[in-house]
Amino acid sequence: MTPHIERKQPNELKEPEPEHCPGPESENAGKGDACNGCANQEICTSNILKGPDPDIPIINERLANISHKILVLSGKGGVGKSTFTSMLSWAISTSDEDLEIGAMDLDICGPSLPKMLGVEGESIHNSNSGWTPVYVSDNLGLMSISFMLPDSDTAIIWRGNKKNGLIKNFLKDVNWGDHLDYLIVDTPPGTSDEHLSVVNYMKDVGIDGALIVTTPQEVSLLDVRKEIDFCRKTGIKILGLVENMSGFVCPGCKKESLIFKPTTGGGKKLCEELNIPFLGSVPLDPRIGKCCDAGQNFFEDYSDSPAATAILDVVDAIRDQVELDEAMDKLNI
Ligand code: SF4
Repeated sequence: MTPHIERKQPNELKEPEPEHCPGPESENAGKGDACNGCANQEICTSNILKGPDPDIPIINERLANISHKILVLSGKGGVGKSTFTSMLSWAISTSDEDLEIGAMDLDICGPSLPKMLGVEGESIHNSNSGWTPVYVSDNLGLMSISFMLPDSDTAIIWRGNKKNGLIKNFLKDVNWGDHLDYLIVDTPPGTSDEHLSVVNYMKDVGIDGALIVTTPQEVSLLDVRKEIDFCRKTGIKILGLVENMSGFVCPGCKKESLIFKPTTGGGKKLCEELNIPFLGSVPLDPRIGKCCDAGQNFFEDYSDSPAATAILDVVDAIRDQVELDEAMDKLNI
């Protein structure tokens, strides 16, 4: 049964926020120029939206049994962020079958994880215990808006409150089972509603950190600086940066060519400059694109490729970091 996406609460807005909205929870809610004539003005000038969000305790309870929560961010589109998220999900779940992994696709307007993970066209099951994610393998579940759409060509033309409502539903209504070791959250490019919402809703339960994906050229690194600034302003730990499509390794002769040239030193230099961990470079390998299009596990078919080795090194670096942080938290260091 396809669940209803929208669940209106008494304290929700009647309509999405218009352009130039000062923010329904801000000091100027209901009083800005954009508020004149807005259908939400009455609710925004009341104090209903400014109190504690009653859904936060529900989200906290739902996510309490997830050991590690990781956001995947990119400054720009087209750097292979969702591809990398799918590779990361396959890599962690394949490299250690004892781990339980969840992937959450928050790219609401452009969900692509279902196709990349080979479960496009599936639908989620709704029961008293919540929405059951679609299982890609025994230890890898996926939640995406794509599972709620009538077909893959349906456009999601949402903004503001409606997107926030869905993100909240994903966090409080998805039943990931008794325990998850890792929840990997794929976000859209940039720093927009989705990012602010997920950071706000997960504030109490905690996010282990963010993984930032870039390509080597300066045009991508420029936007990565904004993403790093966003993490610092919102208090999200940066687990590190991954340079994707970093050189092309010919599958035949194994020779490497630089397609996206690191004209200003690439991701490694940026990490040194901004003092964040550099997690590694993943070469461009056309077989990754082929596996994503077919929804196949790259690590089963090409486990000895340079790209697989590079991604598994990133996985090791992330696991080392979050597990060390967890141990230090337990020791209160
Ligand atoms: S009334 Fe509320 S939703 Fe409408 S513009 Fe003002 S703050 Fe935004």
